Amino acid sequence: MHRSVAIIGAGQAGATLATTLRTTGWEGAIELVDSEGGDLYQRPPLSKDYLSGSVDEDGLITRTRALLERDGIGYRPGATVAAIDRPARRLHLDDGSHVSYDIAVIATGSRPRSLVLDGSDLLDVHLLRTRVDAAALRRSLGKARDVVVLGGGFLGLEIASSAAKSTRVVVVERAAELLQRSLSAPMARELAARHADEGTRILVDTGVRRLVDRDGAVSGVELDDGTILPADVVIVSVGAQPNIEIAAEAGLDVVNGIVVDSSLRTSDPSIYAIGDCVSFPHPHVFGHIRLESVQNAVDQARHLAHVLTGTGETGYAAVPWFWSHQANQNLQIVGIAAPDDDAVVEAHHDGRVVIARTRDERVTAVETLNAPRVHRQARALLAQGQVPVLDWEGLLSQSGVRR
Ligand SMILES: Cc1cc2nc3c(=O)[nH]c(=O)nc-3n(C[C@H](O)[C@H](O)[C@H](O)COP(=O)(O)OP(=O)(O)OC[C@H]3O[C@@H](n4cnc5c(N)ncnc54)[C@H](O)[C@@H]3O)c2cc1C
Repeated sequence: MHRSVAIIGAGQAGATLATTLRTTGWEGAIELVDSEGGDLYQRPPLSKDYLSGSVDEDGLITRTRALLERDGIGYRPGATVAAIDRPARRLHLDDGSHVSYDIAVIATGSRPRSLVLDGSDLLDVHLLRTRVDAAALRRSLGKARDVVVLGGGFLGLEIASSAAKSTRVVVVERAAELLQRSLSAPMARELAARHADEGTRILVDTGVRRLVDRDGAVSGVELDDGTILPADVVIVSVGAQPNIEIAAEAGLDVVNGIVVDSSLRTSDPSIYAIGDCVSFPHPHVFGHIRLESVQNAVDQARHLAHVLTGTGETGYAAVPWFWSHQANQNLQIVGIAAPDDDAVVEAHHDGRVVIARTRDERVTAVETLNAPRVHRQARALLAQGQVPVLDWEGLLSQSGVRR
């Protein structure tokens, strides 16, 4: 008898797992269940090319339903898993049906945090996660002149940059610097300058008191000092929270994400978890970490496929990397830096910036702007394990970055 796997969530992680299971020899049933409907798609273009209008809905699709059918993957679009019955090994769906499993995988992703703010339910106030959200935002932007983005993280800045092609944009950030937890201060300043070149105004150290109502639609953003910024559209982009509720209700360990071991297994040996919703141990950090990136979702899915088919190693240790396109810049990061790691600016010319984050004479992460070759080389170097600063300097000399 072949074992069956049921995957909750058909996003980047769940979909990659389903297809990789087939290519690595899984012969049992595979059932994918997802609350969203339609063909499977990717999220990164939603804040970039799709929002600025250079990619349409078809350009988002990664796998059609016909392709899933061809690969013998069952897909239930528009169905939400309401509960996991662990003793019976069954998923209960909100339409009253159920899916039995030998192995269940939770790949439920994350969702935008909302702001508890007067006016946040007004018309033309948006959050962005799904293609439905993105289509609504694109429509609103089509008739907007003044856009305010609340939150200066990666996503907020990408949205700002897409909107700046056709509207006036202000980004309001509560912290003293943009991207304080995810990027070195010199790189964050560099990015801010490139957004300013596009005409975007960035206000840091600035709180918001309320959103201003005009006949049920937003018309402005009142800041803590009483200033009112005009706004036909407001985007709230203040981070994401993992979708952990069904795991917690099933009694699985949950601490800032569903806790898994290095095989990506939860506290129930029949249930695994991958992607944005997971808190996992990584050899480069002390304790567990939760990441929100395509690389993390895809690498964990591929790793788990090999674990389940017995065709690979058990200890997940892929080096994290991330990209973001904004203000016409190609930002790439590899590794995991703590906010207080040093930032050594190695090159800053021809529009390229290369910054190494270091701690105790070792490189913890490398941030690059418009230097994809150096990023690829840094990925290969960091994949070897701990990188002494000396090795990194050798790489820079070879790559011609250091002049
Ligand atoms: C606009 C945007 C731009 C991004 N840009 C980048 C980028 O440039 N680079 C990068 O690396 N990352 C980017 N990301 C992040 C990246 O898309 C995510 O890290 C990735 O999608 C995570 O994959 P996942 O499978 O864990 O979650 P998701 O892709 O979110 O998939 C989770 C799925 O689970 C489903 N689900 C949740 N709960 C249930 C339930 N109870 N029952 C059934 N189904 C359920 C959801 O409907 C969803 O489809 C971006 C994200 C967004 C929103």
